[in-house]
Amino acid sequence: MCYAIPGQVKSFDGKFVLVDYFGEQKKAINELSALKVGDYVYAQGGFVITKVSQSEALQTLETWKDLFFELKDIDDRSVKDMPWAGAKFAKVRDMFDCVSADGKISLQDLQYLLSSKDAGEREFIRNAANQSRHKYHGNSCCVHGIIEIGNVCDQVCHYCGISRLNTSLTRYRMSKEEILESVRVAVEDYGFKALVLQSGEDADRPIIELVDIVTEIKKRFGVLIFVSFGEVGREGLEQLYTAGARGLLLRFESSNPNIYQELHPGSNLDDRLKDLRYANELGYLIITGSLVGLPGQTAEDISRDIQLAGELNVEMLSMGPFLPHPHTPLAHNLPPTKEAVVQVLAAARFYLPSHVKILVTTGLETLNAEARELAFRSGANSMMLNVTPQEKKLLYEIYPDRAHQNESLAVQIDSAKNLLQSLGRAPTDLSFR
Ligand code: SAM
Repeated sequence: MCYAIPGQVKSFDGKFVLVDYFGEQKKAINELSALKVGDYVYAQGGFVITKVSQSEALQTLETWKDLFFELKDIDDRSVKDMPWAGAKFAKVRDMFDCVSADGKISLQDLQYLLSSKDAGEREFIRNAANQSRHKYHGNSCCVHGIIEIGNVCDQVCHYCGISRLNTSLTRYRMSKEEILESVRVAVEDYGFKALVLQSGEDADRPIIELVDIVTEIKKRFGVLIFVSFGEVGREGLEQLYTAGARGLLLRFESSNPNIYQELHPGSNLDDRLKDLRYANELGYLIITGSLVGLPGQTAEDISRDIQLAGELNVEMLSMGPFLPHPHTPLAHNLPPTKEAVVQVLAAARFYLPSHVKILVTTGLETLNAEARELAFRSGANSMMLNVTPQEKKLLYEIYPDRAHQNESLAVQIDSAKNLLQSLGRAPTDLSFR
């Protein structure tokens, strides 16, 4: 875990460097040539992404030095106040003790957490997940940007508003120049250090074009790139990695092959999992997960989704609500409740390895505006802000009325910063300025 404040290189160990942040030391993979002990760097997702001059670093560190400790203090105090309910929720307490001692709870335990209907016990689960988040991640919160580079899609996913079956949607494909300009704005004007490039599965934009775009971004900007173009196959993943992409965002959507088959005619779960497994072998950071609230889905299915994410070596879990879109076959299905989705995130915090980050999805915020804060208080510690140009953002309509769709990037950043500051979280991707 690295802060988006400059750190100073202390030592080298093979491909790793040890980076110091106000006395805390974190390990990161270094791919920059000519890096030396004493240099200042930005690191993201465990990778050194760019070097910064000493004067720029010292200036940034000066603005951070008090805030860094103030935020930690707010977060420390928030978890100290946790009410322990004695023997009342002994089963969950035992699970929490197991996790706190670096143990692993069983799949049955996970199903118990997901199925709890008692309001007091559910609150207890959320608070315990927050304690765990604090113990293993401190107050750091990943804030990545996402650029939706096109909404053309050849797939026919039954829940998705950009499926090719939705003939009422205006389609777009951002040009290379438009994408590079959006990256410039995100990185140079707003300080993002990690960006996701996302689009539908678009056969008319061949992989070679995507590779060229990633290559150019890496040449011009110090930023960690995640790709999210659907299934690009082994060769596509290799080419994108060679171009400089280091993360993959690809949800498996559902670990239940029957549900998967029903909702994705013409595709199959095994192919999707092959891409995820191969990306993991190549060294990509994996963001994956599933949709919560799909028709026919049970608590057991969701427990297997969380289990599968763990098996895929997930770095950041992305599980969010299914939201009905009027121009899809699931138009008349109901979404899950915000409480149900937050319970999934809290339960996942118990089950998954402690280093895993848990994302608060835009879907969850769309379901309920207060859900973002609740999720951050229930074990989650990552978010993504939409840096797509405004007119394109409105056309990336996977479901209607997406949260923040009418807000400028500056407004989104302000509200994210205010929330994180009130919770005592330090954004590991944006600098407070
Ligand atoms: N083509 C890429 C892929 O296949 O992963 C990325 C684009 S896809 C539209 C991004 C994500 O949107 C999917 O993983 C899916 O879970 C989510 N999504 C699509 N429709 C949704 C809906 N109605 N409700 C919630 N999430 C949805």
